[in-house]
Amino acid sequence: TPPSGAPRPRVTFLGTGYLGATYAICYAELGYEVLGFDVDADKIAMLNAGEVPIHEPGLDELLKRNLAAGRLRFSTDMAEVAEFGDVHFICVGTPQRADAMGADLSYVEAAVTSLAQQLTRQALIVGKSTVPVGTAEWVEQLVSKHAPTDLGIEVAWSPEFLQEGFAVDDVLRPNRIVVGVKSEWANGMLYAAHKGVFDLAATEDREVPMVVTDFATAELVKVAANAFLATKISFINAMAEVCEAAGGDVTHLARAVGFDPRIGNRFLQAGLGFGGACLPKDIRAFQARAQELGAGEALRFLHEVDLINLRRRTRVVQLAADLLGRRTGPAGPDLSGTRIGVLGATFKPNTDDVRDAPALAVASLLHKAGADVHIYDPQGMDRARAVAPELTYEPGINEAVADADLICVLTEWADFRNADPVALGDLVAGRRVVDGRNCLDSALWAQAGWEYRGMGRP
Ligand code: NAD
Repeated sequence: TPPSGAPRPRVTFLGTGYLGATYAICYAELGYEVLGFDVDADKIAMLNAGEVPIHEPGLDELLKRNLAAGRLRFSTDMAEVAEFGDVHFICVGTPQRADAMGADLSYVEAAVTSLAQQLTRQALIVGKSTVPVGTAEWVEQLVSKHAPTDLGIEVAWSPEFLQEGFAVDDVLRPNRIVVGVKSEWANGMLYAAHKGVFDLAATEDREVPMVVTDFATAELVKVAANAFLATKISFINAMAEVCEAAGGDVTHLARAVGFDPRIGNRFLQAGLGFGGACLPKDIRAFQARAQELGAGEALRFLHEVDLINLRRRTRVVQLAADLLGRRTGPAGPDLSGTRIGVLGATFKPNTDDVRDAPALAVASLLHKAGADVHIYDPQGMDRARAVAPELTYEPGINEAVADADLICVLTEWADFRNADPVALGDLVAGRRVVDGRNCLDSALWAQAGWEYRGMGRP
């Protein structure tokens, strides 16, 4: 705990993507003076002009309000960042390496090195990016190599658990804060840097637990949490596979097992599986790091978790072929001459993020199998077009399903869940639907004359 009345530190966020932009904006909202930094000058210009470069509910209004209040700025000038901040949060990407399962740490290295070289006063550098265990120690070495030695620069790690689509609330009202620190000073600085979150919680009669631990544990908490979540999803999707073989219904199964509070019903929906820029790459990087540490056997199950997840994508293609009465050869189903309307491109609703999105992966597989794929997503169109230019992009649901022999619902946006099967039935060439997210009311669709297939359902 810092001395009462200690001034709030000035905070910077390096990397203003999904994580860093949300944090910068929300921390200004909590009353901190904030400077966001990115090497992407277009992103910085947009943010300074009051435009959020991503789709995240609630963020636009907070950005405008806090820019106007003068608490929030964005810059591409690292010298300014170094001069401004008491606490610097590293929020750059850590994608999967192009040539291996491990994480690409080159963005962390670049951001930390350039910050360290410009520092002129004492500060705390806090990693928030998801990284392989051991990275914080390595960052500490980078800092001692590149920062002036007499300034007393320290490093800490505070992994991040926000979910896209709920990011504003997750940042303002986190269910826990985890910090890996090596000194009382770093601990106090981090407490002060989160005091706005604790104060907000107090006004709402809540508490936010803060777990203070060592570097390695802090780094591991994040990947352990993601490994667990991925496993829970793949577990129920494995049950879906068995239900498919046995003629059971995984939605009933999940509901029934989920009543046991030791199991719980959240994250237990069978469907097309997980995607996005976190779970897939994080479970792969975790396995790669465990192998380096000689603990690879402990995480061998994560390989199966990954395979179960990827098999759901080919399952949707198979269901489409079955409904269309197409034969499957050694190279997979042949869907040539068919037209398929795909609803959904993002990896989940309420985001524009299409990184490793199961929906887009399936749309591309359908296209590869020869189908003429017409796709629509409420927020992900621009990003999807950049990743999968081979698909035909449509301005709305009606246009995407028009004249389709089959439609696939692959992201559970509310607009798709609530779509009227009677009205859509008049637009299509054939009333066939694959519900990749088990998000439609199957009885309603069947009543409207649709042949319906869900995931893990008879
Ligand atoms: P992102 O790609 O949206 O953002 C990364 C940003 O870093 C980009 O704007 C990029 O231009 C910038 N950048 C690259 N090099 C830089 C440098 N040298 N200096 C400053 N900025 C630089 O990624 P993201 O989704 O925000 O994820 C960032 C990290 O947070 C990852 O490690 C991710 O695993 C983790 N994380 C993400 C989420 C999420 O929901 N997106 C949740 C928890 C943790």
